[in-house]
Amino acid sequence: MKKTYPFELPALPYAYDALEPYVDKETNMLHHGKHFQAYVNNLNAAIEKYPELHQKDLVELLQNLDALPTEIRTAVRNNGGGVYNHDFYFGIMTPNALGKPVGKLAKAIDEQFGSFEAFKEKFHKAALSQFGSGWAWLVADKDGKLQIVTTPNQDVPLNLTVTPIIAIDVWEHAYYLRYQNRRGDYVLNWFNVVNWEKAEEQYQKAMK
Ligand code: MN
Repeated sequence: MKKTYPFELPALPYAYDALEPYVDKETNMLHHGKHFQAYVNNLNAAIEKYPELHQKDLVELLQNLDALPTEIRTAVRNNGGGVYNHDFYFGIMTPNALGKPVGKLAKAIDEQFGSFEAFKEKFHKAALSQFGSGWAWLVADKDGKLQIVTTPNQDVPLNLTVTPIIAIDVWEHAYYLRYQNRRGDYVLNWFNVVNWEKAEEQYQKAMK
């Protein structure tokens, strides 16, 4: 994804229907084409009149919200977060999913959560416990320590002082068309499309 203004909607790295039946085509079309696009447009609109911000990359903007002009702080938090989170989310799903973690990450999950099944249960609980709109994340620090965290709205995890490994969007717009109110079924099915190879790359990046 382009890292500075003007931000652009990155292409979906697979076909809209490629994650069927777990994430449906219509949801992907609306979620990527409309919701994600709106975060991009609104972020650009917020910083358009501030040329001094045009060279700053998205992570830098999000990590320094307090330094922004007050009139755009909330817009950048919500829409910049929306851009960051959705870019990550669509990239951490794949039609060629392995179904379970690999490499160093697989080992770390076993060591730190007991087993992949135990991890999944804990992550599922976190995703269900996020009241209203938000996200559940698996993140890692530079020592390889894993942590499950949730964020409300479009907030980013721990101010991006950690590296995201996987993330699920639990806004209703991410699942309501197929799953209606059954967020738990969405979370369970979503595990079938997690890109564990990419997650492993993220984990190795965290420790560099
Ligand atoms: Mn979303």
